[in-house]
Amino acid sequence: MSKITINQLHMALCEANSIMLTVHVRPDGDAIGSMVAFYEALIGQGKTVYMVVDDVVPEKYSFLRYTDHIHDVAYFETNPVDIDMLMILDASTYERIGKVGALWSAPIFNIDHHISNTEFADHLYLKSEFAATGEIVTDLCTKWNWPITESMGTALYMAIATDCGFFKFSNTTANTLEMAAKCVAAGARPNVISETIEAVSASRLELTKQVMQTIEFHKNNTVATIDLNREAMNILGDDTDGFVDIIRNVDTVDVAILLKAEADDRTRVSLRSKGIDVNAVASHFGGGGHIRASGCTINLPLEEAKQALIEVIK
Ligand code: 5GP
Ligand code: MN
Ligand code: MN
Repeated sequence: MSKITINQLHMALCEANSIMLTVHVRPDGDAIGSMVAFYEALIGQGKTVYMVVDDVVPEKYSFLRYTDHIHDVAYFETNPVDIDMLMILDASTYERIGKVGALWSAPIFNIDHHISNTEFADHLYLKSEFAATGEIVTDLCTKWNWPITESMGTALYMAIATDCGFFKFSNTTANTLEMAAKCVAAGARPNVISETIEAVSASRLELTKQVMQTIEFHKNNTVATIDLNREAMNILGDDTDGFVDIIRNVDTVDVAILLKAEADDRTRVSLRSKGIDVNAVASHFGGGGHIRASGCTINLPLEEAKQALIEVIK
C-alpha cells in the first residue's frame, strides 16, 4: 500500500485508459453520487469507464444520470472487460466491495474519507477530514479543471448532503459548504434533491408509527435504540435511512442506535453520536466508519446484540 498525492492520483488517471469504478455494498447516497459523477468526469476525459456494485442500487437514487449504467457482478462475469485500474470509492475495507475484488487483478486505487480505512488498496487517496467522498471528488474536479456539469453537480451535492445530514452534522466544514456551493453553481437544486431523497410514502409513515413503539432509552436517557424486526425489514428492504435520526435528535441522547434484524441470528447496526467515539464501538464488533457515524454487523439476535452494544458503550 502507498498513500498517494493528488498529483500522483492525477497522473495515474491520465495514464489509465480503461477504468472500473466501484463502491461499498449497501450503497448510500455518497457512494452512488460520487461514483456516477466520477464516471461522467472520466468519460469527459476520454476514458473507457465502467461501474459495478455487488448489491442493488436503491431506487431512490435513480433520478441521477448514469445510474442505469451501473452493473452487478454477474453482468461482468458474462461480459468480461479488461481494465487498467480498479477505482474503489467510499469504501474503507476490501470486504466492503463484496465479490467485486475477485473479478480483476488490475491495480487497486481507493478514494475514501473513512478514519477507519484499513489501507487495503495498492494506492490510497484518503481525506478523513472530508465529510463525504463526494466532497473529495468535487475538490479533485475543481483542482484539475475538469468541468462539473449539471448532472455531476446534482450527484455530488446529493453525495455530500446525505453524508453530513444535509449540513447539520459535525463533519460539515467550510470546505464541505464550499464544495456544495460549486455543485449548486453547476446547477444542482438543493430543494429538489432533498425533496427527492427525503420523500416518504404513506405506507412507510404507517410503518414508522409502529417502529417508533420500539424506541428505548438506556443509561439515563443518553443512549437510545430503535428496532427494525424481521417483518419491518422485509417491507423496507435497504431503505432504512432516517430511522436513526428520529432518536438522534432527542436532547439528552449522545448515542443513537438503529438495530436491524437481518436474520434471526444476525443484526445490522447503525451508530450515531454527538460526542463519544462510535467508530471505536463499531470496531469492537468488526465494523467501522467515522467518529460520530459508524456501523457493524453482529452475529447475534437483535436483543442480544443490543445488550452487547450497551455493555461496550459504558
Ligand atoms: P450507516 O450506519 O449509514 O450504514 O454507516 C455509517 C458509517 O459507517 C458509514 O460511513 C459507513 O461507511 C460506515 N460503516 C457502516 N457499516 C460498516 C461496516 O460494517 N464496516 C465498516 N468498516 N464501516 C461501516
Ligand atoms: Mn458510504
Ligand atoms: Mn461516505
